[in-house]
Amino acid sequence: MNNEDIRVGVFVCDCGSNIAGVVNVPEVVEYARGLKGVEFADEGRWSCSVDALATMQESIKEHKINRVVVAACTPRTHEPLFKANIKEAGVNPYLLEFVSIREQVSWVHMSEPETATQKAKDLVKMGIAKAMLLEEGEEIRLPVKTDCMIIGGGMAGMTAASNVADQGFNAYIIEKEQRLGGLLNGISTISHDHDEILAADIVKAKTDSVESHPNIKVFTSTEIEAVEGYIGNYKVTLKANGKSENLDISTVIVATGMQEIEPEQGQFQYGSDPRVVTQLQLEKKLKAQDVGDIKDVVIINCVNSKNATRGCCAIGCPVSVKNALTIKKIKKDINVHILYRDLSMVKDEQIHLQAAKAAGIKFVRFPDDRYPEVIKNNGNLMVNVYDFLLGRELEIPSDLLVLTVGFKGSDTVEQVKGHLKVSSNPDGFFQEAHIKLGPLDFASDGISLCGCAKNPKSLKETCEEGIGAAMRASIPMKNG
Ligand SMILES: Cc1cc2nc3c(=O)[nH]c(=O)nc-3n(C[C@H](O)[C@H](O)[C@H](O)COP(=O)(O)OP(=O)(O)OC[C@H]3O[C@@H](n4cnc5c(N)ncnc54)[C@H](O)[C@@H]3O)c2cc1C
Ligand code: SF4
Ligand code: SF4
Repeated sequence: MNNEDIRVGVFVCDCGSNIAGVVNVPEVVEYARGLKGVEFADEGRWSCSVDALATMQESIKEHKINRVVVAACTPRTHEPLFKANIKEAGVNPYLLEFVSIREQVSWVHMSEPETATQKAKDLVKMGIAKAMLLEEGEEIRLPVKTDCMIIGGGMAGMTAASNVADQGFNAYIIEKEQRLGGLLNGISTISHDHDEILAADIVKAKTDSVESHPNIKVFTSTEIEAVEGYIGNYKVTLKANGKSENLDISTVIVATGMQEIEPEQGQFQYGSDPRVVTQLQLEKKLKAQDVGDIKDVVIINCVNSKNATRGCCAIGCPVSVKNALTIKKIKKDINVHILYRDLSMVKDEQIHLQAAKAAGIKFVRFPDDRYPEVIKNNGNLMVNVYDFLLGRELEIPSDLLVLTVGFKGSDTVEQVKGHLKVSSNPDGFFQEAHIKLGPLDFASDGISLCGCAKNPKSLKETCEEGIGAAMRASIPMKNG
């Protein structure tokens, strides 16, 4: 088609007052009408409504439009709808250009209507220029095989693999460590309803079922060297003990987990005194049922989280309560204090909080801007904390000081990101495609995400996400 034949139709949406409340839509429409190549331009109150879509089809036919520009919300949610609509009107769906004047204009420039209108005009002009260069496209169909690679053999990865495999697909778990289980290998117990379950029992049951599943192949002490291709046709090179192995897979699930953020040297005496440990380091002692000959334990929550740079660590409060209770179970007469800012516990976890209070564990709330101080007095660790509720300073001795630290993604995030061309966030976790519309997806088709690789969460949520990610990966494999 040469330039003379191009007839662009421009449809500018009001989105009620979402766009029209800021952008002068009639002015944008008038401006579009004057641009080269534009045959027709119109304003739509709700362009995605059934009536407006039908009117758009009529306008396309009446004005013999062969390129369509829709200036509205975001292509992420609405482009498929408009593509299908212009297809029904007889225009190839690849001849649509979508311009975002809601997310990129009216929502972000609410207090500057004139500048917003100018920006909308500029974006529409660019959209028209691009639309004039568009060429017809055709969807090609490639076979999608039934093999899925899961990166990370923690509970998220193993749960995802089980669900993929139970549907009859092949699952390959790639685990960089010598054994499966991830964080749970270093954890003592997991609270469950009124009970505590040994983390080792959970790992053993899951590992046994994964390793004996006929559709699952486990690669331990293995890392990914290279990934090439796209959904339905990934070629992966694995590296294990200096040897390489190749996999042909269709979909990928990322389940690389998380790690504690180590406190700075000297922060609350960490690193300079062996009695100061993180929750994960404490778990090791609890696993061995040996906390040593101690009388006073102090736990400080919200260490390096819930501050200007990092959000709530999500699991710190329930973990601190669980571990405080375990200490009491090991030795009833140990005094345990939990120093907290907020107790962030969901309804199901309240039962453990009540149990902790009943067991004599003391809770001291400190102000957001006044963290406890840890000093050494004649070799003894003393914690000075301002009790927000009592309104006075307390001095608490401590033979064991436990820091409930925040979390970051695995050290391998950057490497995996490079292989798969996916995104991460400033906290070092992987970034999902959309918090509501694609919580377990990446922007690249065929790659899904689950567990603590996305953000810190409880084991229950981790496993639920593992099932969810398996479902996302299975859809293209099921459709073939
Ligand atoms: C101290 C502590 C106590 C906790 N206590 C509780 C509790 O009581 N109750 C509860 O519900 N939850 C608890 N949790 C949370 C629970 O442990 C997690 O929800 C769960 O273990 C996360 O599993 P995951 O598979 O997402 O991640 P992980 O367990 O971190 O597993 C990720 C796996 O991926 C592997 N990996 C990473 N990168 C690569 C790569 N590039 N290639 C191959 N393999 C890779 C890692 O080696 C690891 O094995 C606790 C967490 C901590 C830290
Ligand atoms: S097409 Fe988008 S911008 Fe227009 S009404 Fe629908 S949601 Fe709003
Ligand atoms: S310790 Fe509790 S309140 Fe503090 S950041 Fe972690 S979950 Fe949030």
